[in-house]
Amino acid sequence: MDFTLNEETRAVRDAFNRWVKEELIGLEEKEKLDPDAGIPEEIVKRVRKKSAELGFYSHHMPEEVGGGGFSNLQSSILREACGRSGSFLASYAIAGPEGPSPMHLMFNAAQREEYLTPLIAGETSACFMLSEPGAGSDAQHIATRAEKRGDKWILNGTKHFITNGKHADWGVVFATNDPSKGAKGGISAFIVEPGMYKVGRPHRAMAGFEGQTEIIFEDAEVPAKNLVGQEGMAFLTAMTFLGIGRLQIAANCVGVADYLLSLGVDYAGQRHAFGQPIGARQGVQWMLADSATEIYAARNMVYHTSWLVDSGTQDPTRELSMCKLYATEMVNRVCDRVLQIHGGMGWMKDCPTERYFRSLRVLRIVEGTSEIQRMVIARTLLGKTAR
Ligand SMILES: Cc1cc2nc3c(=O)[nH]c(=O)nc-3n(C[C@H](O)[C@H](O)[C@H](O)COP(=O)(O)OP(=O)(O)OC[C@H]3O[C@@H](n4cnc5c(N)ncnc54)[C@H](O)[C@@H]3O)c2cc1C
Repeated sequence: MDFTLNEETRAVRDAFNRWVKEELIGLEEKEKLDPDAGIPEEIVKRVRKKSAELGFYSHHMPEEVGGGGFSNLQSSILREACGRSGSFLASYAIAGPEGPSPMHLMFNAAQREEYLTPLIAGETSACFMLSEPGAGSDAQHIATRAEKRGDKWILNGTKHFITNGKHADWGVVFATNDPSKGAKGGISAFIVEPGMYKVGRPHRAMAGFEGQTEIIFEDAEVPAKNLVGQEGMAFLTAMTFLGIGRLQIAANCVGVADYLLSLGVDYAGQRHAFGQPIGARQGVQWMLADSATEIYAARNMVYHTSWLVDSGTQDPTRELSMCKLYATEMVNRVCDRVLQIHGGMGWMKDCPTERYFRSLRVLRIVEGTSEIQRMVIARTLLGKTAR
C-alpha cells in the first residue's frame, strides 16, 4: 500500500487550505464570530454553499449523485486539513451531520432528486433523528412508533440531541413499525419535513451554543412515499453506511491534534521559566514527544483504514471502530497536554486550548461512545462469546 498523495489530492487539499486561510479565517475576524455564541445561520449557509461550489462540501459523495467522488483516503486527507486549519468556520465547510452522507444513498430516484440533490449542492441542510431520551447507544430499542394508515404513516415519539434540528429543511427519522422484530424487520426510516414535527427545547451544552434540540412527533402524518428503503429494514441498512462517519471523525481528530501540537511546540520555544525556554525541560519535551507519537499512530490508522475501505478487500468494521476510539481519545489527551504546557494561559479564552478542551470532549460520545467502539472491536475478536 502506498499513501503518497497524488497530484489531484494535493491540489484539492492546498486549494482548501488557501480558501480557509484567505476567506474563512478572515470572515471569523471581520465578523468577530464567537463559536460559543453560535455562528449566525446566514453565515453557515453562505459557507456551505460556497464550499459546495468549490467542490469541498460534498467531496465524499459519489459523482452519480452530484458529489465529488473522492476516495476515502482522499476524503480523510481533506478532513485532516480541515482539523489542522484551526478555523471553526472550516468545520461548516465539510459536510457533517447536517449534510449529505452515504446513508442518503438509501433514497430512491425521486427522493434523491427532491432531497439529496439540493443537499449536495449546499442549498439545504438536513438532520439525522435516531437518539431518544430512552435509547442512545442501544438505538435498536427506540420507542418512536410508526403505524401505517392508508397511504400515510403516523409517527409518535420524541427524539433528542438532534444536531441541526432547529434549522434543518428536512430529516431522516427512525421509528419502530414492529417492536417485536427489533432491528431485524421492525425499524423503518422516513424523510420528514418541519411541518410534520415540532422542534422542542434546545439543549444547553458544554460547547456553549445550542446546536442540538428535541424533535417531537405527535400524530405526525408522513406520506408513504417518504419511507426510505424497505419497510422494517432501515436500521440494518443505515448501520452499514454509518461506519464511515467514524473514520471521518478520526481523520478530523488527527488534523486537530496536529494543530494543537504546533501550538504546544511554539509556546515551549517562546515561554521562559527559570532562565530557559520551558521546551528545554524534559517534563515538557515528553508531553510533546508523546503527543507527536500518538498523532503519528492515529494518522497511520486512519490512512490504512481509508485504504482498506477503498480496496473493498475485507470487512473494515473493526478498523473503523479502532480509528474512532483511538483518535478521539488521542486528541483529548493531546489537548490536555498542550493546555498544560500553556500553564494558566491554556485555561484562558485568549488561547485556543480553552475552547478545544471543551469541544473535543464530545467526540468520545457521538457516533458511538468509546465503550461501544470497544464492544464492537471485542465482538469481532470474540464472536458469539462477546454477545
Ligand atoms: C453533541 C451531540 C450531538 C448529537 N447529535 C445527534 C444527532 O444528530 N442525531 C442523533 O440521533 N443523535 C445525536 N446525538 C446522540 C448520540 O448519538 C448519543 O448521545 C450517543 O449515542 C450515546 O447515547 P446516550 O447519550 O443515550 O448514552 P447511553 O447510551 O445511555 O450511554 C451511557 C453510558 O453507558 C455506556 N454504555 C451503554 N451501553 C454500553 C455497553 N453495552 N457496554 C458498555 N458501556 C455502555 C456508554 O458508553 C455511556 O458511557 C448527539 C449527542 C451529542 C452529545
